[in-house]
Parts: sequence; structure tokens; C-alpha cells
Amino acid sequence: MPIDAWLWPVLLGVLGLVFGSFIATVAIRWPKGRSTLRGRSECDGCGKALGGTELVPVASFVLQRGRCRGCGAPIHPSHLITELLGLAIGVAAGVAMPGPGGVAGAVFGWLLLALAALDLAAFWLPNLLTGSLAAAGLATGALGIPPAMDARLIGGIGGYAALAAVAAAYRLIRGRQGLGGGDPKLFGAIGCWLGWQALPMVLLAGASIGLAAVLGFVSAGRKVTGTDRMPFGVMLAAAAWLVWLSQMLSQA
Ligand SMILES: [Zn+2]
Repeated sequence: MPIDAWLWPVLLGVLGLVFGSFIATVAIRWPKGRSTLRGRSECDGCGKALGGTELVPVASFVLQRGRCRGCGAPIHPSHLITELLGLAIGVAAGVAMPGPGGVAGAVFGWLLLALAALDLAAFWLPNLLTGSLAAAGLATGALGIPPAMDARLIGGIGGYAALAAVAAAYRLIRGRQGLGGGDPKLFGAIGCWLGWQALPMVLLAGASIGLAAVLGFVSAGRKVTGTDRMPFGVMLAAAAWLVWLSQMLSQA
């Protein structure tokens, strides 16, 4: 196997573990208004500062059997899940597209992972993150990574306008909010990465994932009603990255 074939997946996989660990902490702390960038990592239960051996993604969780060494409180499984997703995104991006395109795709995936984690935890898609996602998408376009810049710009504006129109129509007809305020911005930012041509596919895939989730809840015995809130941003994020991945794999 040539060095490039495993270098990129390994490199991006390790970065993915680190970013996944950071994203899990951000998703727990940011909605509570706690500092995420300053201060040491600490137990979500007792606030004990974590030592070096407690900070290794995945391995620490497994070795401590999912419990804090200080207070024995269960470590929220979102830590492990987010770390593994960060790893999977990095490895898959490195395999699908070794080189700068794969790095861009991994960054796309990690930003989407952060947005999905926050939407799931707090129904919140911070403008700072959707804005960063849009800016990073346009920056990769400026570096010459396809799709072309005009397709990205039309995707950004068109994606935002399309979902904003749907949200406005829903409010008008049903008299209440159906989409979160951040969803049109997220969809626009996705357009800045994938170009406008991919957006119908993202919407279709996102709706399918949402439907599958509802059917899963129903078959698990949970009641789902028309007024239940669904973190649509999670589905859009997952769909967008899967569309990116399938585009790369179909090119190869
Ligand atoms: Zn603790």
C-alpha cells in the first residue's frame, strides 16, 4: 500500500478523535454559558479537573468503564459517541479523498458534527458556527477545491432563502414555528460547501433520516405527535456530510 493511502486516514482519524472530544465538551458546556475554550477539562458531575490519562479520547472512557475516577458519576455517553464520530469522519474523508480535498471534507464533517451535537443537546445552531461553516466552505472554494465558487454562492443564498420561505409559509399556515431559526442558515452554509446542485439531495436525505428516526421512536413504543420538536439541523448535517462522501466515492 502506498504511504498516501494510509497516511491521510490515520492523520485525519487522530485529529478527529481530538476534535470529537472537544466537540462533546463544547456541546455540553456552551448551551449552559460555561467557558469552553478556557479552563481545563473537568468531570461534568463533580467538576474534578481531568488529568492527562483521563483526557485520552475513547481509551479513557473504556479504561474507566464510563465513570469518573473522582466521584464515580457516569461519564455522559455523548463523549464517547462524539469522539467515535469524529474519528469516523476523519478516516472516511481520508479514504474517500486523500489530500487537501479530504482535509476540507473532514473539516466540513467536524463543523457539522459540532452543529448537530448542539442542536441535539439544546435545539440551538449558533450563528457563530453556521457562519464559520459558510465561511470555511467559501474559503475551500477560493482554494480551488470543487465545486466552483458561483455554485457555492448560489447554494448559500438559495439554500437559506428556500428554507426561510418554507419556515415563513409554515408559520403563516399553522400559526406556530415549525423550523428552528438556525435551520435556513445551516442549509445555506451547506450550500456554500456542496453547491446549489446538491441541495435537493441533502433535503431529501435529511427528511428520510428524520422519517426513519420518527419510525424508530414509534416502533420503540415512544409517542410522537405533530407538535414534537425535531432537531432538523441534526438530520440536515448528517445528510449533507453523507452527500459529500457519496460524491467523493462516486468520483474515485
Ligand atoms: Zn466526577
